[in-house]
Amino acid sequence: MNPFEIQLHYPLGEQLPTPGATLEVAPGVRWIRMGLPFALDHINLWLLRDTLDGREGWTVVDCCVSRDEAKAQWEQVFATQLQGLPVLRVIVTHMHPDHIGLAHWLCERWSTPAHPCRLWISATDYYTARINSRGDISFGGEDAARFFASHGLTDPASLDQVRARGGYYANMVPAVPDHFHRLLDGGALEIGGRTWRCIAGYGHAPEHMALHCEALNVLIAGDMVLPRISTNVSVHAVEPEADPLSAFLASIDRLRVLPPDTLVLPSHGKPFVSLHLRIDQLHAHHRDRLEEVLAACTQRPGSAADMLPVLFKRALDLHQTTFAMGEAVAHLHALWHAGKLRRQRDAAGVWRFEPSA
Ligand SMILES: [Zn+2]
Repeated sequence: MNPFEIQLHYPLGEQLPTPGATLEVAPGVRWIRMGLPFALDHINLWLLRDTLDGREGWTVVDCCVSRDEAKAQWEQVFATQLQGLPVLRVIVTHMHPDHIGLAHWLCERWSTPAHPCRLWISATDYYTARINSRGDISFGGEDAARFFASHGLTDPASLDQVRARGGYYANMVPAVPDHFHRLLDGGALEIGGRTWRCIAGYGHAPEHMALHCEALNVLIAGDMVLPRISTNVSVHAVEPEADPLSAFLASIDRLRVLPPDTLVLPSHGKPFVSLHLRIDQLHAHHRDRLEEVLAACTQRPGSAADMLPVLFKRALDLHQTTFAMGEAVAHLHALWHAGKLRRQRDAAGVWRFEPSA
């Protein structure tokens, strides 16, 4: 356990739902845990007891990536955990593959001619997912390779691999439902007779929606607040001047109005209480990283690639390197947008950052 994690309180202890089963974490709120084929090896999904259009059933929150193992585990959940009731709708917190991958399959699986099982998601993430599922714009391909090269990733083998990954998103999200129901910041959803409010968050996905239920004192946090790891905050090729880190930190600050004893249901890791402490920890984490980046750029003008050993004190494989590059640019851009660094292209066309004063 890292020193941050040890300070958090996990009310369920070491309990985890077994594959294909669920664990009740609050009245009418059930936890599903599915494996992922990445270094981040699992995702948490949620089943909420619900009534919609007069029908009894369940609302699903998040879906897992599209692959046979996940479909099989869902079928097990349907057969044993739903008390014979249908899935009524699918809420997706954001457009990343582990969250939206199987939304298409789930909605199709549970739609009837009289009752469509609808995807509920922010409009920004819906359209981003649809565009990405038809040909990647942000995780791989020529544009991503050019973007990484402009930030100092010059090794030809790595760039070739980035180019070859044009279909990365579409592989895990082969389709997105043709229709959706829009989630808006501050909007209220009636789920199982209780009100859940949408809280938009920026910096991790285009327009992430967390869900808060005051009556249950529960926050479905998605990826905005995770207990063990810090949320990935990256600049992507499609929005090359973005400052997602400042947006992310401002977004988690909006969660400070929630009660200190809120039960936080994160997409990765275990449910925890101590939301305010975790927000403080995340601020401290990024403040330290920003100081290290500023110090490195003060010694000599640095590119994002130069920041990898500063930010990540371990060897990275290609998949991790591309995530790490996005994060390194995000830290540089936070300092750049704050006026602490300025940037200039060097003779090789690489962005280098140095103190502005
Ligand atoms: Zn995510």
